[in-house]
Amino acid sequence: MEETNYDIIIIGGGPAGFTAGIYGARANHSTLILEGTLPGGQLTTTTEVENFPGFPKGIDGNELVSQMREQAIRFGAVDKFESVDSVDMSSYPYKVKSGETIYSAKSVILATGASARYLGLESEDRLKGKGVSACATCDGFFFKDKVVAVIGGGDSAMEEANFLTKFASKVYLVHRRDEFKASPIMVDRVKANPKIELVLNSGVDEVLGENKVEGLVLKNTITGELSELSCDGVFLAIGHQPNVDLVKDIAQIDERGYLKVIPGTSKTNVEGLFAAGDVADPTYRQAITAAGSGCKAALDAQRFIEHKESLED
Ligand code: NDP
Repeated sequence: MEETNYDIIIIGGGPAGFTAGIYGARANHSTLILEGTLPGGQLTTTTEVENFPGFPKGIDGNELVSQMREQAIRFGAVDKFESVDSVDMSSYPYKVKSGETIYSAKSVILATGASARYLGLESEDRLKGKGVSACATCDGFFFKDKVVAVIGGGDSAMEEANFLTKFASKVYLVHRRDEFKASPIMVDRVKANPKIELVLNSGVDEVLGENKVEGLVLKNTITGELSELSCDGVFLAIGHQPNVDLVKDIAQIDERGYLKVIPGTSKTNVEGLFAAGDVADPTYRQAITAAGSGCKAALDAQRFIEHKESLED
């Protein structure tokens, strides 16, 4: 087994991971970013990012993360598209295992983000990739002149519904309440789009179809009445769950499943393990807040390493 030593190992390559990479490498710490299997993180599944400061005309999500990656590499960060199998924080330097390689680190920053949530229906699971998707940017193209339903009432649902009207002939926005969690500006855009029809107070009971999506069985959340909605595709936009699997047995996780940090810092309860981005953020979950927390994590990691080394002197 090969073993390579780094000062800082960052797991995850979204705005949090890359910002940590920029700060770590620029401070002359040997820094490794392991991006995993979804390089770039959630921003690569979004379309236009309109609220990241510095881009008054908006910027494509993929473009934004690739610029962040380039910036981290420019300062000397090593970036690899490798998935991490395990993290061992029981002895110093810590160990991060990826396939046949074990990397050792003086500090570890977990920036693994969050993954799309699904409803948990058997029919939904069976039809994943056959009309059921959680990424309009990835799969919208397949629904040219088709009818699709978007499930959810947050900003993601609004964004996906609008985006899908570029392809689909009609988009139903199915939401379990009649009020939206989404920001008013996003809701207004949806309401102004003639291709979108709101289906409110409706939950999804079943996804219909054998080998491809043919429709939905909806349940009125007030009356309990069942109805069918014919459609060719279903896009889930019901939020995300934090990716804490790598550390769930060693670090404290809160009741909502997020990695716990000491308030105001990126420090977890495990010495040398820091958190950045959505994995530890149940509240804001924005690209800019993820980037900010990546900066904090890198600064905390640097101070930790310096303190550790001062004790060794
Ligand atoms: P949210 O948590 O904001 O919204 C999730 C939505 O899904 C809610 O409307 C919720 O309903 C609904 N939902 C959750 N579980 C279920 C379920 N089991 N069945 C049916 N419906 C369900 O997640 P988003 O992904 O929309 O947004 C996450 C964050 O990212 C937010 O902070 C958002 O502002 C941000 N974002 C910003 C964008 C932008 O500004 N361009 C674009 C996309 C996201 P209910 O309302 O009833 O709880």
